[in-house]
Formats: sequence, C-alpha cells, structure tokens
Amino acid sequence: MKTSRRTFLRTAAVSALAVSAPGAWRSHAAAPKSVTKAELDRIVDAPVLETGFLPQPVTVASVELLRAGKNFVIRTRSTDGVEVITVPNPARMAEAFPIFLKNIVPVFVQKDARTLEALIWDAYRHGSNYKLQGIALWAGIAAIEMALLELLGQTARRPVADFFGGAKRRDIAVYYASGNRGNTPEEEIAYLQKLVAGSGVRAVKFRLGGRMSRNADSRPGRTEALIPLVRRTFGDDFTLYADSNSSYDVPNAIRIGRLMEEQRFGFYEEPCPFDWHWETKQVADALTIPVAGGEQEFSMRNWQWMIEQRGVDIVQPDLHYGGGYIRATKVARMAAAAGMTIVPHMSGGGLGYLDVVQFASFTPNIGPFMEFKGSTDLPITCPTSSLKCEQGKVRCPSGPGFGVTVDPAFVKSAKPVTLG
Ligand SMILES: [Mg+2]
Repeated sequence: MKTSRRTFLRTAAVSALAVSAPGAWRSHAAAPKSVTKAELDRIVDAPVLETGFLPQPVTVASVELLRAGKNFVIRTRSTDGVEVITVPNPARMAEAFPIFLKNIVPVFVQKDARTLEALIWDAYRHGSNYKLQGIALWAGIAAIEMALLELLGQTARRPVADFFGGAKRRDIAVYYASGNRGNTPEEEIAYLQKLVAGSGVRAVKFRLGGRMSRNADSRPGRTEALIPLVRRTFGDDFTLYADSNSSYDVPNAIRIGRLMEEQRFGFYEEPCPFDWHWETKQVADALTIPVAGGEQEFSMRNWQWMIEQRGVDIVQPDLHYGGGYIRATKVARMAAAAGMTIVPHMSGGGLGYLDVVQFASFTPNIGPFMEFKGSTDLPITCPTSSLKCEQGKVRCPSGPGFGVTVDPAFVKSAKPVTLG
C-alpha cells in the first residue's frame, strides 16, 4: 500500500526520520509542518522591503510606457534626475495597457518610491481597481513595482536583492522546460535531448495531458508512454518534472500521478484546472510526490488557504501575473512557515527568465531548480553575468537594480503608448 501524503505529514511531525521519503521530498519539502491562519496573517501584514539605506525620499517624477514591436519598456524618472528602464511582461501589457496607464500609474506618480508596499495596496483600492483583480490588474502592478524597485536600486546603487534581505546565492541551478504537446513520445524525447545537450542542466520539465482539456490527451496514449520513457532516457540521477496545465479531474490526475510516482518524479504541476483548489488538494493528499501549482494565482487569501490546508506542496507564483516581487516574497515566507519550497512560474517574453533568477538569489526557501528560458529579443547587456546557462547554472546579475542595461538605441526607437 502506498504511503499517503497525510500519513507522511503525520509521521513526519513525530519524527522526520521515521519515514523513508522519496528523493523528491528530500529536495523539496524536508520538513512539512502545520501553520495557522493567524501566523499567515502576520506574514502577509509584515513589511517586506528594506529601504533603510535610502534616507531621503525618492520621488517618482514620471512613468512612461514605450513600445517597440512586440516589446514594451517602462521609463521611470525621479525628481532627483535618476532615469531607469524596465521591462514588463509584453503579452499582458499588450492586452491590458489601458488599465496600466489609467488605473495604476497615477497612484505612483509624485509619491515616494520607498513607500512602494503601501502604494501597491493603494493601487489595489484606487477607484474600484480591486474589481479588476486578476492578471490584467496584477501584471500591471508588477510592472510598476519592478520600475520603482529599479529606481530605488539605481538611486541607492544597490542590487534589488538588498531590498529583500540580501542575496543568499548568485549561481542559480536551472531546469529546462519543453512547451510541446501533440508530438509523439519519441519526437518529444528527441526534443528534450536536444534541449539539454551540452547545457550541464540536470533537470527537465515536459508537458502532459492536453491543457485545460477535461482529461483528453493531446495525442492518445502520449502521457502514459512518455512518463516512463523520459526516465529511461535520462537515467535515475536526472530530476524530472511534468506539467499537466489543468488537464485532469481528480481520478485521472491521481492515475497519472501514480505513474509519475513510480518513476520518482520531482513534482507534478497543475494536475487539475488551476482554480480547482479543493480538487488539487485531494490529488496532493492522495499522492506521495509533491504537487506544484499557483502560476495563475493572484489572491493572497487563496494562497493562505493553499498553504494552510496544504492544497499544494510547492508554491509557484508568477512574478508578473501575481503582482510582483513583494507579493511573491510574502507567498514564499508563508510557504517557509509551512516547511514548503517555492519554484516561481516563469512567464515568457521580456526579461521574465531573469526575474526568476533574481528572485531565487534572495529567497531562502527556493526550490532546487528554477525554470529557465534564456532567450530574449531585447538587446541587453550585463557586466556581471553572461545571462546564459553554464554548467547547469545561471549567474544572477549583481549590479545596481536588476543589473542589466537595455540598449539606449532600442529605447530611443520605442514609441510612447498613450490612451489616445
Ligand atoms: Mg505550468
């Protein structure tokens, strides 16, 4: 009989040594512990940002949104004459820029950027912005949060990590992820082999099921064939993750999860539709491998439920979709209180791949590998990192702010976006 996760948690509370946990548990959740709502409330209410090294106000003079092709940049200036360029999530900005310009930016202009945390709450309440709660609102707030973090960092000449307690590590181990569905298992194996070849990467994630597909596979039998085939191909020492992208109901999610358990997978991402928190918890309770989720989540209250009730085992907020680094840090700290790790979701486009590296550099309970898609069509330079995966790791930039520079000629070529 399989050890259920409930049994595991109960036994772990008595003695961490009493259970022979699968390897995945050891790397991702060495000491799961119970946490109360009151403890989680204290974490949500506690300030995150450390700004003591900025004795004077950093007043936001202007925030401009600029567009060049599919990409956006934000130019932010302080009244002291500091000018910074940051990169929002391009796909969400293309869809929701009127909300950004009309509902969000005015809350931050002429304000002291050191009060960023309070301003984020103000932006949520401003007008009736909370009625727009979702990625359309929070990706925009993340965009301005990152702009003001860069402004603070460049003003203080300190890396962003210093505002979050300081860097804990600079070399971030990464995993590569395949975005394929619908190909044959053999074709996917060939793709995964090519993906990791020569990278030194020791972990890989691939896609299962059919994505929001009500149990249908993208190709009949693909998932059941691929799970053991990937293990056979990459061997026992490789860390394997798989993402169903909301494919299954509870019985099917558990059925597929059992196949992943047999192959000692590291985590099982988004087994059920992303907002089926109750069902996802049933799956997590039934399985011994960690269930991961939360890439679409933006509600701090929902995060509290997921952590208090152990609705998932690994939290995966997206730094852009969830409203930025401060909110993701609160999720990380709540997860830490429950003995859980955090593996942020990496939204593609812009500099999303570097945002995860930055977050991993200062977050204590980060998972063993971060998702990495090291490619961007933005011209950037960085004196402190190659920004590439080398021997399975990416070096986090350590210069002021986010530590990268967007080519000034590119910024000059970008056109202002206005409400018209
Ligand atoms: Mg996912």
